[in-house]
Amino acid sequence: MTRTPPPGPLGPSGKGPHAVVIGSGFGGLAAAVRLGARGYRVTVLEKLDAPGGRAYVYRQDGFTFDAGPTIVTAPFLFEDLWTLCGRRFSDDIDLRAVDPFYRIQFSTGETFNYSGDARAMRAEVGRFAPGDVKGYEDFMAASEAIFRIGFEELGHVPFESWTDMVRVLPELMRLESWRTVYGLVAKYIRDPRLQTILSFHPLLVGGNPFSTTSVYALIAFLERRWGVHYVMGGTNRLVQGLVNLIEGQGGIVCCGAEVKEILLEKRRAWGVRLASGEELRADIVVSNADAAWTYRFLVPAEARSRWTDKRIERSRYSMSLFVWYFGTRRRYPDVAHHTLLLGPRYRELLADIFDRKILAEDFSLYLHRPTATDPSMAPEGCDAFYVLSPVPHLGSGTDWQSAAEPYRKKVALALSETVLPGLEEVVVSSHMLTPQDFKDRLNSFQGAAFAMEPILSQSAWFRPHNRSEDIDNLFLVGAGTHPGAGLPGVLSSARILDTVVPDAASFV
Ligand SMILES: Cc1cc2nc3c(=O)[nH]c(=O)nc-3n(C[C@H](O)[C@H](O)[C@H](O)COP(=O)(O)OP(=O)(O)OC[C@H]3O[C@@H](n4cnc5c(N)ncnc54)[C@H](O)[C@@H]3O)c2cc1C
Repeated sequence: MTRTPPPGPLGPSGKGPHAVVIGSGFGGLAAAVRLGARGYRVTVLEKLDAPGGRAYVYRQDGFTFDAGPTIVTAPFLFEDLWTLCGRRFSDDIDLRAVDPFYRIQFSTGETFNYSGDARAMRAEVGRFAPGDVKGYEDFMAASEAIFRIGFEELGHVPFESWTDMVRVLPELMRLESWRTVYGLVAKYIRDPRLQTILSFHPLLVGGNPFSTTSVYALIAFLERRWGVHYVMGGTNRLVQGLVNLIEGQGGIVCCGAEVKEILLEKRRAWGVRLASGEELRADIVVSNADAAWTYRFLVPAEARSRWTDKRIERSRYSMSLFVWYFGTRRRYPDVAHHTLLLGPRYRELLADIFDRKILAEDFSLYLHRPTATDPSMAPEGCDAFYVLSPVPHLGSGTDWQSAAEPYRKKVALALSETVLPGLEEVVVSSHMLTPQDFKDRLNSFQGAAFAMEPILSQSAWFRPHNRSEDIDNLFLVGAGTHPGAGLPGVLSSARILDTVVPDAASFV
């Protein structure tokens, strides 16, 4: 999938204003499609050798390892992009519903099948704590109410002015957004195991359930509403599909093209300078690089009044991740597609990760086994996996160069003692990703896996805006901008560009 820049000066041919998109994560690719559909000539510049960002793909030893997102929710946000190009999503992408969504296993060995089926969920909740069934239904009703406002009404609103925030404040208060996700769950549920099961969702977007605003409790209903899906062939098929859409529109995706500076005249962006020294003119620049990184390293300090170095340094960043991709020469047919293996501690482990920034001895793991649904991800008779462990960002001071292999061994041992017996003897392919890689490969500030932490004081108007507050003609999409991380979040950030980017005709 490597794209090399076309010969001669970069930039697509044709008419219409030129948009440069920095970065080819899902936010950048979706932005490119939307701009292309509105008459912009689009060039996407990607630092890495292939598109996708966190959704990069590693192919080795006959295995296919999706590097990042594995859970596709709200698929209509992808379908919309295909529709904009006059194409049918289902012609290119084979989405399969995953059931159960997650199998959650406690350190005691107890397991809970978490699904989108209301009746099955009531039965599972009742199996753990009959007294919590009514509370569970009330929690799901609260999740739906938050979803109606937080996702359906506000998810694609730009939040450009302080008054936008004031306007929604009464709704946020009515929905008890001052509570944390855990606090909201604990209001309805007594059993500590169920409190964990129903509050873990913010971790999927880099938030600590004990400090993330309860607005993120909407994820529980969002998953039930549209399901949890897997892309046959891997998530990277979606990346390739979007690249094809962009190229079909006449746009270009250039890999191995790192942007070193956004070029300004006074406070107006007019192009970018690449690591090669080449300059590329643009009518608008859209950055899908990490928002904190974009401001800190691509825009000169003297041009910034809101996103100053001090403010960027002082912001709180999400956790990072240790990810181990591995292939086994045998299959583990009893292991579900998505498994959460919970360690003995919950609140205190999260405090180590988010507050104390300590690499703890214990961990909780997410194990992905795509071959449960799609055997094509591994050679015959083999299984492909990745396991991820939430860890502190680089503020912990951990030297991952030396810490990675011992950590991997501990994780492998924990897996072999639980769901993957005999694991170390059957591993035939292995690759690791650490917080240092999030910084060095993906230009993530502090090596955070999900950009700025999704706390109330860093959400909506408080988060970097989709139309830059500091620089004219600069727009931002992706996890570090409003509304936030996760595929629905970054696709929604691109959708907001339809509101804030001027019509192509206005440049004539
Ligand atoms: C391991 C993992 C698992 C996840 N699982 C899920 C999941 O199952 N479901 C879900 O919904 N979400 C999941 N997420 C979150 C989701 O993947 C991300 O929030 C989302 O993909 C981020 O997209 P983005 O648009 O912000 O761009 P990114 O993916 O962050 O891409 C940004 C791109 O910009 C490029 N770039 C940076 N600087 C420059 C520069 N100067 N010049 C050129 N290019 C540059 C980078 O190389 C990168 O390709 C997961 C994340 C991780 C890390």
